[in-house]
Amino acid sequence: MYVQLFTELYLITFPLSIFAIWNYGEFGPDVWDDEYPSCAGHYQSPINIRTACTIYQSFEPFHFSQDYNVSHNFTLLNNGHSILARYSPENNETLFQVTGGGLNGTFDFLNFHLHWGQNYKSGSEHQINSKKYAGEIHIVYVNRRTRQLAAIAIFMQSNRSIDLNETKNTYQIENTTLNEWKRYFSTARTLQYSNISIVLSLNLAKLMGNNFNEFWRYQGSLTTPPCTENIIWTVFKAPIIFTENELNSFRKNIFIEDYRGPQLLYNRTVYRNFVNETKLSISDYNCCLKDLKNYTNNFSIRQVNTNNFLFILVYVMENFSFLDLFL
Ligand SMILES: [Zn+2]
Repeated sequence: MYVQLFTELYLITFPLSIFAIWNYGEFGPDVWDDEYPSCAGHYQSPINIRTACTIYQSFEPFHFSQDYNVSHNFTLLNNGHSILARYSPENNETLFQVTGGGLNGTFDFLNFHLHWGQNYKSGSEHQINSKKYAGEIHIVYVNRRTRQLAAIAIFMQSNRSIDLNETKNTYQIENTTLNEWKRYFSTARTLQYSNISIVLSLNLAKLMGNNFNEFWRYQGSLTTPPCTENIIWTVFKAPIIFTENELNSFRKNIFIEDYRGPQLLYNRTVYRNFVNETKLSISDYNCCLKDLKNYTNNFSIRQVNTNNFLFILVYVMENFSFLDLFL
């Protein structure tokens, strides 16, 4: 709170122009907090989601408004940090609303943009058990009544990835989605310079695909300066597949990379909306203390498979007093 207040006072006191320089190179993520104090906050994004440490919580399904299924003109802009897609409302219409998914109220679409990396094993901002994808789609929303921001993340998987068959077998990824992104890249790749834009008709439903069943939820921030906190993050488990040609067209023509690495979790809990999470690795042994305590308190330990049960039991007995378990 103090950090945010400080940022706001700072922004009011000093002209915005002195904040203009930030990038993913010399003025990259490691030094953003020199000028943007919020970037060193305790609720920062992205994070590395350690799946074994997540807590199950039931959320109602997402509901996207009908107009997602209709193609609409988007303005694609090279803003110097990413390619940002916004739509121009006609007749003050509000398009692309989302409700449900545990979000409080109705959220309006603000923009979508991409993050990517210099090769097929880097580029996503969020990581899953330290695994990086080739990129990440962010869709940003606002609840205009409460001014709450919410962001959706969808991983971009390269067709060069060895997990590709696993993804194809696990999730149904429609050709319409792949083709819509193909159209997007064939146009967006031409936006080589900052502040140039182009209008393209896109179908948001096709771009986003259909795999909204499984996601993680946590409280975070904007992943770019000013790193404003109090953003509700939804990270979908299912990636969308992209070709190396598409990703290369951005690496070569736009920027080589534009992603921030994972930030410390501090005292936050990451929730998942799906029951079964069976991965529990030794590397998580020392980092799940708080969450394992929640497991036991919530009696949700039976959601972990039998092999892991003994492991957790030993861990809990080693790390908590008897009273601790029941407080
Ligand atoms: Zn982003």
